[in-house]
Amino acid sequence: MSKSQEIIEMTEKYGAHNYHPLPVVISRAQGAWVWDCEEKKYLDFLSAYSAVNQGHGHPKILQALRDQAERVTLTSRAFHNDQLGPFLKQVCELADMEMALPMNTGAEAVETAVKAVRKWGYTHKKVAGDQAEIICCNDNFHGRTTTVISFSSDEQYRDGFGPHTPGFKLIPFGDAEALEAAIGPNTVAFLVEPIQGEAGVVVPPEGYLKKVREICDRHGVLLVLDEIQVGLARTGKMFCFEHDGIRPDMLILGKALSGGVLPVSMVLSSKEVLGVFKPGDHGSTFGGCPIGCAVARAAIEVLIEEGLVQRAAELGAKFAERLASLRGNKVESVRGRGMLLAVVLKESAGAARGYCEQLMEKGLLCKETHQNVIRFAPPLVIDEKDLDWAFDRIREVLG
Ligand SMILES: *Cc1c(COP(=O)(O)O)cnc(C)c1O
Repeated sequence: MSKSQEIIEMTEKYGAHNYHPLPVVISRAQGAWVWDCEEKKYLDFLSAYSAVNQGHGHPKILQALRDQAERVTLTSRAFHNDQLGPFLKQVCELADMEMALPMNTGAEAVETAVKAVRKWGYTHKKVAGDQAEIICCNDNFHGRTTTVISFSSDEQYRDGFGPHTPGFKLIPFGDAEALEAAIGPNTVAFLVEPIQGEAGVVVPPEGYLKKVREICDRHGVLLVLDEIQVGLARTGKMFCFEHDGIRPDMLILGKALSGGVLPVSMVLSSKEVLGVFKPGDHGSTFGGCPIGCAVARAAIEVLIEEGLVQRAAELGAKFAERLASLRGNKVESVRGRGMLLAVVLKESAGAARGYCEQLMEKGLLCKETHQNVIRFAPPLVIDEKDLDWAFDRIREVLG
């Protein structure tokens, strides 16, 4: 039995089966490439769901990790640490927001956003106690905690995990009129992804966010954007909302915020909204820890210094065009923005999973979302010649 096979069996035996990974065991990585236990090399075309935008093992981020590890890793928020203030300032300036609250995973940041907008609703909008309502979209993905799955429209995410948290209303994604119709006196916020990544890289109609912004303003509803997957250069802008020329009231970041090195997430907003938190209202032992902050500071610098926004825009546009040339027997359409792309397969082509397995055999790692969509989201530092190589593999399998 190969080492990889042995590891897979051990993982399956001792680990809960809450994932269905491709049968590849990664043991090291550099840039856009990863190697398995047998030293077979693969191109990473998923980037850990856009957490590794800066590429694996980035020397600057690893140096920040090592340096900070030598100094201090965790203080808890019972004391200040010398990394948190500079990190908060950096992210607030980057996103042009007044205040930020650091957490660890994306789902925790979404939970934080839910708490903040509810409390803002009670203290500022004068919604009656326990009546605050948040509007979300069908096919959303905001994480896996019990409250977050309470507003999922995916039965598998919810089934068997009730009772669910009340206070959420679902509307179709991309439909601004539906938002207007759903808003009531107790609506405190609209929580939405600018592009629905997990739903299969679903891009809303042109002008959607602009209309949403206008509707939220008119009704005194906070616009909360979950940019955990689409933010931080992935779509060819630092933040996806820039494509629409609008600004959210609250922004949620995670994933690439630490370049895939440590779980670092964040909620950013105004003083009015994040000001609702008083000491003791909310917290996290590791949230804002010095090692997370130091790593994230370097990860953001890498995005800027290496021009990854521009790179995602340019390489993504070229790659999308090449993918579009594959439309035919198997490929129905290509969608996405910047380097967050997906091919939608024809129904007659069969399940996406089989194609991901074929691509893996050829050394290209990507993952299906749902039955018929394959997402392509390589690290943004990828070489053009590696993209050419990837395209040839994709053409062999899907052309
Ligand atoms: C990944 C993701 C989350 C959840 O982040 P975790 O770190 O897995 O908890 C939330 N929202 C979006 C849009 C995501 O892509």
